[in-house]
Amino acid sequence: MYDMHIVGGGPAGCFAGISAVQQGKKVLLSEEHKRIGEPEACSGLVSKSGLEALSSYVDYRKAKINEIKSAKIVCGKEEIIVRPKKESAVVICRKEFDRMAAERFVEEGGKLELGKKVTRKFQARTVVGADGPASAIAEHFGFPRIEKYVATLQGEFSYRCQDKHQTELYFSSEHFPGFFGWIIPINEEEAKIGLGVRLPLHPLIYYKRFLSRLGIKEAKFSVSAVIPIQMRRQTAIERGGYRVALVGDAAGQVKATTGGGIFFGASCGILAGKYAQQPAKYESEWKKSYWLDLALHQQARAILDIWGGQPPSLLVRAAKMALFDELIEQEGKMDRWSQMVSPQLPLAYGKIVLCRLFGVKT
Ligand SMILES: Cc1cc2nc3c(=O)[nH]c(=O)nc-3n(C[C@H](O)[C@H](O)[C@H](O)COP(=O)(O)OP(=O)(O)OC[C@H]3O[C@@H](n4cnc5c(N)ncnc54)[C@H](O)[C@@H]3O)c2cc1C
Repeated sequence: MYDMHIVGGGPAGCFAGISAVQQGKKVLLSEEHKRIGEPEACSGLVSKSGLEALSSYVDYRKAKINEIKSAKIVCGKEEIIVRPKKESAVVICRKEFDRMAAERFVEEGGKLELGKKVTRKFQARTVVGADGPASAIAEHFGFPRIEKYVATLQGEFSYRCQDKHQTELYFSSEHFPGFFGWIIPINEEEAKIGLGVRLPLHPLIYYKRFLSRLGIKEAKFSVSAVIPIQMRRQTAIERGGYRVALVGDAAGQVKATTGGGIFFGASCGILAGKYAQQPAKYESEWKKSYWLDLALHQQARAILDIWGGQPPSLLVRAAKMALFDELIEQEGKMDRWSQMVSPQLPLAYGKIVLCRLFGVKT
């Protein structure tokens, strides 16, 4: 018998495993696929600050494919280019990142079991459900349901981006209802191109149209997956003699704005590894650390939802006139929005406005 049985070998499960073994626990991690990280269902775009925060567990530099320094955001006919001064992002090979995390788990002394789908027969009294967006563990233990999901399609294409360090994000209630489309350069010649639409819509028709507008004829895709864009109301429970904690996509620990879940899933995984044996403690610890960030992303998504995912042109223009794009460049964070809400923010904004008024470069 083990102290903890983790179900799912994605970032949330592997980081939970490493952290639990480091606490001296005897841990079994079961993954239904024969290889960790496969099939890859991700774009692999993560904030550098987030990856740095996780780097004592996994050295992301070994999985790095490209660095992203700016974003072109297209909302209908309006376009904004944001070049953050303090924050950049890295495109990682997810397969490699997950593989390194699983390797570290085993090196630390964890037991990895591949090709094993687990839905009920658990090998420990503490179970960590890290089994992704359609969590069977959540279902089995009767957790409250997540109501909002996005359906995505993504493929890798020969595609020449204007700038290999610039990602492109497209918001349109007509073409990407309830979410957005993306082009993430891999290098000068290739890019990951994908989109999401709000379930129950089907993404294929939108995907074909998006690719055709980009001049790509063959609508091939290598990723077809869903992303939860709502936190689960409860993520830990004691039931039927088991202590159960959900983590990562299974818990809805995903940014509702972009669907990014690697940083939050892995970070909450570390907490699950420490506290899953005390479910209430796990729930309060991850909420203390990350709930506000995720709630702010959820709030922003709720605002975008008012217009089907596309802010009105007038609002985008007003935001540009009010120099909010410059504020994002100066103070913007990809993940931890709660850290932007500080007394420094109005000061930084005041400085930008004054510099513009007096023609001083910021
Ligand atoms: C198209 C797309 C693009 C994305 N792009 C980004 C991005 O650029 N940046 C970002 O941060 N996030 C991105 N995400 C989100 C990110 O992929 C997820 O948030 C992240 O993978 C969540 O990690 P996880 O460990 O919780 O779940 P997963 O990575 O889904 O891992 C769950 C694992 O559990 C296994 N499993 C499931 N059920 C069982 C079972 N019963 N028994 C055993 N094993 C089981 C699965 O095989 C899987 O390996 C994207 C998602 C999609 C779909």
